[in-house]
Amino acid sequence: MAFLEEPIKEVLKLKNYINGEWVESESDQILDIINPATQKTIAKVPISTGNEVNMAVTAAKEAFPEWRRTTPLARVRCLFRLKELMEENFEELSRIQTMEHGKTIDESRGETRRGIEMVEVATGIPSLMMGYNLEDIAAGIDEHVIYQPIGVFCHIAPFNFPFMVPLWFSPFALATGNTFIVKPSPRDPISQVKLAELIDEAGIPPGVYNVVHGGADVSLNLLEHPDIQGVTFVGSTPVGRDIVYRKCGETGKRVVAQCGAKNFMVVMPDCEVVRTIAALMTSFFGNTGQRCLSGANLIIVGNDDAFYNKFLSAFVDAASKIKVGYGLDESIQMGPMQSIDGKQRVVGYIEKGIEEGAKLILDGRKPKIIGDYPDTCFLNPTVFEGVTPDMTIGKEEIFGPVAGVIRAQDLDEAIGICNASSYGNGDAIFTSSGKSAREFQYRVESGNVGINIGIVAPMAFFPFGGMKDSFFGVLHGQGRDAIRFFTESKVVIQRWL
Ligand code: NAD
Repeated sequence: MAFLEEPIKEVLKLKNYINGEWVESESDQILDIINPATQKTIAKVPISTGNEVNMAVTAAKEAFPEWRRTTPLARVRCLFRLKELMEENFEELSRIQTMEHGKTIDESRGETRRGIEMVEVATGIPSLMMGYNLEDIAAGIDEHVIYQPIGVFCHIAPFNFPFMVPLWFSPFALATGNTFIVKPSPRDPISQVKLAELIDEAGIPPGVYNVVHGGADVSLNLLEHPDIQGVTFVGSTPVGRDIVYRKCGETGKRVVAQCGAKNFMVVMPDCEVVRTIAALMTSFFGNTGQRCLSGANLIIVGNDDAFYNKFLSAFVDAASKIKVGYGLDESIQMGPMQSIDGKQRVVGYIEKGIEEGAKLILDGRKPKIIGDYPDTCFLNPTVFEGVTPDMTIGKEEIFGPVAGVIRAQDLDEAIGICNASSYGNGDAIFTSSGKSAREFQYRVESGNVGINIGIVAPMAFFPFGGMKDSFFGVLHGQGRDAIRFFTESKVVIQRWL
């Protein structure tokens, strides 16, 4: 794969990776992968057949007994090799993400780095997977708990972090001795293909890791397959809650379903304004607002009109100066939306906001773009004032570069507004008061909480939180939760006479 050249010389026909082989799909349904900035087709991806899903599950099932018997240290050696290969291919992995998704090259580099960190943390598995024991629980009787791998797991991926999100799960699944199938988003699957090439090169045995391309039908085939023990899903709430979580309940599979969001950024009058504005710019407009942890509503707290006006005007001023264009240009701060559908969805929300009476104070619908690119997928940052939590734009996930400003009298009211949301993914407070911060952390119903931090993304060694309509399941992705999710505990009680 050669994604370091621009323009791309050939349109890649992506293949499935099954049982250590690159297998061309027999499907006649092929989708174009379009670079959202240039509108050029850069690859073609198949919607795989049911038979191809079966082949991947069979390969993963047959590889499991040998892989689980492979010592944790031997499994981890493969991950160390993979980490080295990811470092060597760092720039290409990052460029692919920019080309298939549209995010800026720095955002892609951040995503690649986060993906590598997952592999690094999973290399600690010989310690992380240890059980525990106690002698003499009764006369001459000892008891211990061991954690064992379970079998075949799969991942159904979203489009917004095409490289990193599957890595929230796969290194932990493989390190604990399970086998794995990834179904990338059909909108931007190329970086997962590149990753599978590196996994192959790292010496992970055939069948242990597989990639099957496709959309909803392929997901359903995976969800209904009797030989899959558990599903990790990241995507929208309707799909996660109504399809993935329900199907896993019906078929008795373990499930992690990390879903949609509507995040609140609460600004107290005692915040440090310059730093807060900088943090809010990346929170609201980084990744073009297509993050489950993006700021969505900005709550400015207090009765002080002077503070409110000053803060809002600094926020709008900074948003209006964000440089929008093709993410491979190092000077660009915000790329296009990943697809034309995504852009139209956001434009629809902007129209709804105007219709419902919010005041549009920065309109990004006629985008100013740096460079000569079609404006098909581009938007500029957009800000609404006078948003209320019951407006459509106040409560639904927009998933684009749109900020809705809400005013609250005090912290109590602000926390009430956050908690009235059906979502609970990543809320943050900006303040210099420990008391306000502690109160917010204590009461806010959100799985990831920021204090003077705008993007509350947990590191690989902590679980990725989520509450209410943002999460379905018990154990989360990453960290110790992932290790428990991918293992079954077994208790042994023994007496030797
Ligand atoms: P999506 O729900 O449309 O798709 C996610 C995956 O599900 C894709 O692989 C897709 O092919 C598959 N899918 C789509 N429809 C399906 C159906 N009817 N049946 C079975 N599978 C189906 O989500 P998306 O648009 O790709 O991603 C954006 C969403 O993901 C946003 O809501 C965002 O908040 C969420 N997200 C959440 C987190 C988190 O950790 N909470 C992280 C990233 C993204």
